[in-house]
Amino acid sequence: MMSTSQLLAAAVQAVAATCALARQIQLASGGMRHITKDDYSPVTVADFTVQALIALKLQEATGELVMVGEETAADLRGVHSVALREAVVAAVCQSRPGLTTTEVMDAIDLGNHDATADAYWTLDPIDGTKGFLRGGQYAISLSYISHGEVLLGVLGCPNLGADFTTTFDQPAIDGTIFFAQRHAGAFWVPTSDATSNPVPMRVTSSTDIAMMRICESVEAGHSRQDETRRIAAHLHARGVPARLDSQCKYAVVARGQADAYIRMPTRADYVEKIWDHAAGALVAVEAGATVSDIEGKPLDFSQGATLSKNRGIVCAAPAFHDKLLGAIEALYH
Ligand code: AMP
Ligand code: MG
Repeated sequence: MMSTSQLLAAAVQAVAATCALARQIQLASGGMRHITKDDYSPVTVADFTVQALIALKLQEATGELVMVGEETAADLRGVHSVALREAVVAAVCQSRPGLTTTEVMDAIDLGNHDATADAYWTLDPIDGTKGFLRGGQYAISLSYISHGEVLLGVLGCPNLGADFTTTFDQPAIDGTIFFAQRHAGAFWVPTSDATSNPVPMRVTSSTDIAMMRICESVEAGHSRQDETRRIAAHLHARGVPARLDSQCKYAVVARGQADAYIRMPTRADYVEKIWDHAAGALVAVEAGATVSDIEGKPLDFSQGATLSKNRGIVCAAPAFHDKLLGAIEALYH
């Protein structure tokens, strides 16, 4: 049985090994627009390829693998998916020469667990697909959940650099891997040198609500941006929310570049997926942030593949978290 820190080391290595490949596929997709998941597209190539490579690497490092991944090879096996399937096999074989189509499909399906085990990995191979397509931010998100607790989280963010002055829509030359282990802090390393000395992260210590820097989704369909504005106005916070895709938002709060990440539900029936939050939320918490849903409830990772007991997200430095919940309560109840 491996220790949590050994599992974390394996997870960081697995994510690091795919960051450059994801970036290469993204750059090759320049100018691409209006692509859906069912199309033969670079974004889907990246999703399946990253899932296959991380699953194989983790299986080799840990011996066994129970994984809840976002993707399934069922979407590639049909007669209509020949071109996409071949592109995925070719991309996987860049890192793993000689694998057969069947072996690649089986590698993707290592991530087919249904989240009923006591402990499992969860992976979003490309979180923030829309950001990936726009040439903006996205994250390779991997975490390990045991008995409903997130024990470790890794976020590979190939386009988020160490320089806080670069705007989020400008891909950095060198990205960042953020990682955390429960009760052991949060750290970052550059994607180009994942074995370098990890740098600890801390949320902002500012308490001036007028200066609170909020971040939120780029996609209005994922988070009610008008409600974020109302909450900020209620608190007399003056800044304009920064918008970026993916769990990079949790990392941006964790490293003190923003004070809060707010995700206001757009639909009553949307349930958040564990792979969209487990790694990011742990990174933020371990850097000192408070993370809850919009009613103040802790995120409940014991409900299988979704956060069915939660609605929306409020992730903020503690001094701001209470005030944000108070504003939401005052405005919506
Ligand atoms: P973001 O980049 O923060 O906007 O979030 C991207 C994630 O939003 C994707 O991984 C989707 O799983 C998720 N998503 C899709 N539809 C919705 C929705 N209606 N509300 C909230 N999240 C969604
Ligand atoms: Mg996602």
